[in-house]
Parts: sequence; structure tokens; C-alpha cells
Amino acid sequence: MTACPRNPPHGGFFIGAVHFQKNLSVFATMSQLENQTEEPIECDVAIVGAGFTGLTAATELKKAGLDIVVLEARDTVGGRVEAHAFADGIEVDAGGQFFCRDMVHVVSLAETYGRPVVMSHATGEVISQPPLPKGKAEELWESVDGLRDRMIATDLADPAVSNLTVAGWLQEQTDVPDDVAQSFRRMVKGLWCRSPEEISFAYLASNDRRVTNKYPELEMIIDGTMHMLAADMAAGLGDRLIIGSPVTAITTSPESVTLTTQKRLVRARQVLLAVPPIMARRLSFSPALPDRFTRALDAWSAGMAMKFNIRYAEPFWRKQGLSGLVMWRDPQGIFACDASHGDYCGLIIFVGGPQAGIWHERPADEIRREIVSRLVAALGEEAGRFTEIHLRDWVDDPWSDGAYSDVITDLGSPDAEAVLLEGLGNLHFAASELSPSFPGYVEGAIVAGKIAAEKITHAFQAKTER
Ligand SMILES: Cc1cc2nc3c(=O)[nH]c(=O)nc-3n(C[C@H](O)[C@H](O)[C@H](O)COP(=O)(O)OP(=O)(O)OC[C@H]3O[C@@H](n4cnc5c(N)ncnc54)[C@H](O)[C@@H]3O)c2cc1C
Repeated sequence: MTACPRNPPHGGFFIGAVHFQKNLSVFATMSQLENQTEEPIECDVAIVGAGFTGLTAATELKKAGLDIVVLEARDTVGGRVEAHAFADGIEVDAGGQFFCRDMVHVVSLAETYGRPVVMSHATGEVISQPPLPKGKAEELWESVDGLRDRMIATDLADPAVSNLTVAGWLQEQTDVPDDVAQSFRRMVKGLWCRSPEEISFAYLASNDRRVTNKYPELEMIIDGTMHMLAADMAAGLGDRLIIGSPVTAITTSPESVTLTTQKRLVRARQVLLAVPPIMARRLSFSPALPDRFTRALDAWSAGMAMKFNIRYAEPFWRKQGLSGLVMWRDPQGIFACDASHGDYCGLIIFVGGPQAGIWHERPADEIRREIVSRLVAALGEEAGRFTEIHLRDWVDDPWSDGAYSDVITDLGSPDAEAVLLEGLGNLHFAASELSPSFPGYVEGAIVAGKIAAEKITHAFQAKTER
């Protein structure tokens, strides 16, 4: 972690926010388009979704000279990368935020847009809750890593594994001590945000094989927000990006695809659905999708996650020699880390898996109080003297249904990713979930967007050559 020097601090956090606000007026909204002609908007490629997948694909396709239109349901871009502004205007990430040197596309995007990157603070003691004897936490994590390697090395062509959930596979590892198995379950809930009883083992093993970082995945953050990078990309698309414009229906013919939004139709020669699989299955397709595509979309369940940003006047934990990292063993799937950068001081608490589902049913004030009291128990009284707290509950989110990622829970659909990646004529599917590297991460979304753009560009080239 210390091998990489801290980048010099930059001028302030507000640049991106102002930049984005300014550019919002450049994007079209459906109400602006309402008064225009009722003729469909025509384009070469329509992209549904302005998350990192859609924004990357749109940027690449535009570079290739194609006429694109991006339709985004929310009133902002970034999708599962989202900013929250505190009272004084300082913005924090309420969605995707961290990356590391191995995630080369995120690093390169930050360079392209001149967004400084800082190393996150991780030096100092890690706290376990309830406390563990000295050295035990490290010993447990080494064993969990070993188990993770065993999972990744499993022969997925072996028919014996195809019907296993993650919990089923874990039960078969009879040499694994109970405390290691419990820590593994905790990791699955914390990272994949569903219970090991639900997740397909073959999916998890295949997914984890593609998460190849050598450096810690919480290594870096943008000095500002990750959302600023989404706003930077969006600014390059101008009025071909239409926000506040959910697509509800898709009608395909061999020549074109027509997208229905509340106000206008959009007709394109090719369409990219840059939305998570669960959101794609909510669309109405005409003619209906072939059964194997419906099955491939039905195979997924949304992760369940919450993210708290808790702001402090100073990083008090560092004075006590603590890293700010807290791992809770009970309930499972909760951890805290230091997300301070520049003049901003704060901790983040992630809640993933069934616990997020349970807390989703409780009043937000009650959960905030519970989180603060857990932090006080872990880090001392000063943890209760925060200046602001923000909770982003992603469970049942209207435009992603959850976070951090959809995961495959239907054991009968081992080919769900492959089917979606095949596409269907002039209809293409892409999302971080379907990425060959770092699926479920911002890096994965950028890679997925680039691959989709390449495929669509080739489709146009092939048509021109005919
Ligand atoms: C709390 C949280 C923490 C995370 N932490 C990290 C992290 O630290 N590091 C990391 O790398 N990743 C993290 N992730 C994951 C990362 O944010 C996602 O993998 C990535 O942003 C997904 O990008 P995407 O473009 O594939 O999908 P999305 O971001 O979901 O984009 C899809 C877009 O489609 C839009 N849409 C959906 N349906 C429709 C419709 N019918 N019509 C029009 N538009 C539609 C959505 O509004 C959305 O904007 C986190 C995610 C969350 C939520």
C-alpha cells in the first residue's frame, strides 16, 4: 500500500460538481423534447443506460463516427456510481468509489479527465467486532484466501458442481474449520451481497476468477468522487444524452429497433442495453425474446447493499493507531473503512447481503443510530461525534434493484452470461455483470462498454462492406 506515493492534493472538490451542473443544461431532458415533432428520434445506435458501461460504449461509438442516442432513466448519469452532496457542497460517493492499480481502465480514465487519484488510508490496526485474540483475524483471512483459491481452481466442467450453491460447496469442504467457513460466508455476503445458500457456486467461482487484482481493491479513490468521471464522460455526449427518460418497451425488426419512452420513440439500427440483467428483464420486448434469453435474464437476483458515509471533523481513529477498518463478524456482511481524502474526513460503512435486506425494512433513523452505536463500540466515544451522516439504501432501487451487482441464483442457467453476450441480431446486452474482467466493478463496466462498442462498430462495418 505504501509503495505508491500519495498524489499531490488538487484544488478542491467542487470542480466536478460545478462541471456536472453546468453540463446538465447541455443534456436534453424528455420534457425539453416534448414540444418537438412527434417523429421518432433517428440514430445509428441507441444506448439504454448511462452508467459506466453505457457511457463508455457511447463515447467509443461516437469516436467511431456513429450517430448515437443515450437514454437514461434517472435524472443524473453514473447509475450505480452516484454522488451525495453534504450541506457545504462537498460531495461523496454513495455508490461505486474504490479501485486499485490493477484496474487499468479506471486509472486511465482518471488520467484522461485530469482527475487526481489518492491512495486510501489503510495503515494501522484493523478492529474485529466482537474482538479476536491478537493475530487471529489475519490467520482467518489467510485461510479464507486459501479457500477462495480452492474455489477458483475447481473444475467447473465437473457435473458434480453444477447443482451446487456456494453453501452446498462449503459443506463439502469437510477439512475446513468452522470459524474459517463462517469467515468465508461473511466475505460472500459482504462482496456478493446475497446469502451463500442462494448463489450458484459455478457462477461465484467463474466470477471470482475474473477479479484478478494483486493490489487491495480499496487501494485508491478519486480526489473528489468517482461520479465526477461519469459526469466528465457524459459532458462529451452533449444533447445526444437524454436523462429522465426510462425506456419501457423495445420492438425489433430485421432493419431497426424502436424504443418506447414516456414521451418519444427512438429508432435505431442497433441497440445496446447497458443495464443490469434484472433491469433488462423488466422491459417489454416485441416480438417476445426467445425462451433461452428470457431464462438467461431470469437467472439473476439483485445484490442487497447499503452504504453509509459518516463525516468527522478529523480522522480521530488515526491518532489511536487505527486504520479505520472494522470487520464485524456478527451480523455478517458489515465492514467500515477510512474514505478521507484532501480536506474531507470520513468513514464508510458497507452493509451487504441478508443484513441489508433486514435493515431495509426498518426506519432509516433507527439503522443510522444502530450503525453509530456499533462504531462507538468499535472505535470509541469519538465515533459518536460525527458532523454528518448519509445512508444510501440500494435495496429495491428503482433503476438497479440492488447492488453492488446482480448475481446468478438459478442453478439451472449456467450459460446465462454466454447467452446474453451472444446478443440477438441488432439487440446487444452489456453491463459490468457480463464483463470478462472485474465483473461487478466500475472497471468491469468500462471493459464491458468497450467490448460492446467494438462489436457494434464491426456490425456496421460488415453491413457497409456487403
Ligand atoms: C454502494 C455501492 C458501492 C460500490 N462500490 C464499488 C467500488 O468501490 N468499486 C467498484 O469498482 N465498484 C463498486 N460498485 C459497483 C459499481 O458501481 C458497478 O459495478 C458499476 O457502476 C456498474 O455500471 P453499469 O454501467 O454496468 O451499470 P449501472 O451503473 O447500473 O448503469 C445502468 C444504467 O441504466 C439505467 N437504466 C436502468 N433501466 C433503465 C431503463 N429502463 N431505461 C433507461 N435507463 C435505465 C440506470 O439508471 C443506470 O444509470 C459499487 C456499487 C454500489 C451501488
